[in-house]
Amino acid sequence: MIHYKTKAEVELIRASSLLVSKTLAEVAKIIRAGISTLEVDRIAEEFIRDNGATPSFKGFQDFPFACCISVNDAVVHGFPTKDLLQDGDIVTVDVGTFKNNFHGDSAYTFAVGEISDEVKQLLNITKASLSKGIEKAVHGNRIGDIAYAVQYATEKEHGYGVVRELVGHGIGRQLHEEPQVPNYGKRGTGAKLKEGMVICIEPMINLGTKNVYHDKDGWTIRTGDGKPAAHYEHTIYIQRGKADILSSFAEIEAAEKANINLCSDYL
Ligand code: MG
Ligand code: MG
Repeated sequence: MIHYKTKAEVELIRASSLLVSKTLAEVAKIIRAGISTLEVDRIAEEFIRDNGATPSFKGFQDFPFACCISVNDAVVHGFPTKDLLQDGDIVTVDVGTFKNNFHGDSAYTFAVGEISDEVKQLLNITKASLSKGIEKAVHGNRIGDIAYAVQYATEKEHGYGVVRELVGHGIGRQLHEEPQVPNYGKRGTGAKLKEGMVICIEPMINLGTKNVYHDKDGWTIRTGDGKPAAHYEHTIYIQRGKADILSSFAEIEAAEKANINLCSDYL
């Protein structure tokens, strides 16, 4: 069942979502070649706890870390490791925070050092597809309208692989609520979007095949052909006219541009 939120509840989800955004902006300041993703996770968790929240993912279905950190061919649910990031890596950091009984959830893919034009375009198009999905996330539309918009902007226009096994979701008191929000589908189908719904839209887009597999660690999802994948996510509130985006990329993008160890010219 779908839990519709009151305006007061939406503000609590906004607070959690903006803390996620601030956490990702902290990550954008420190990420570089030579840092381990375990260190990134530690810094993110400390920031979340210093701000009076808990990391939503830690302990969720026994996930052992605050962040999912997915490098290159890892699509999502990556385990932070001691391995050091290198120039040319792309790194998705997916974070949730829980505060005042409500969750927020957002993800962002960073590029370390110089990356190829092909991968720049993957990041650019994946981020743009999130915006296109959000444009359709208004009262009166259906889930399939969001799904189709994302799929069209990625698979249809660029031949990228849209991951089928993993989807966006409702969010609130629970990290994952109904409805599911796939990144592929038909216009005019699926659950009706109604004012009061809060959902996470999160395109997971592969440069090559749409197929993925589970790594030996039991969590990390990797692309079937070893090519890179990108992932951007916002938590949004459905209302009439235009969605209210509860998380924000503004601070993350500013920190990304200011960090000379990151590539941001794909933006
Ligand atoms: Mg997420
Ligand atoms: Mg999510």
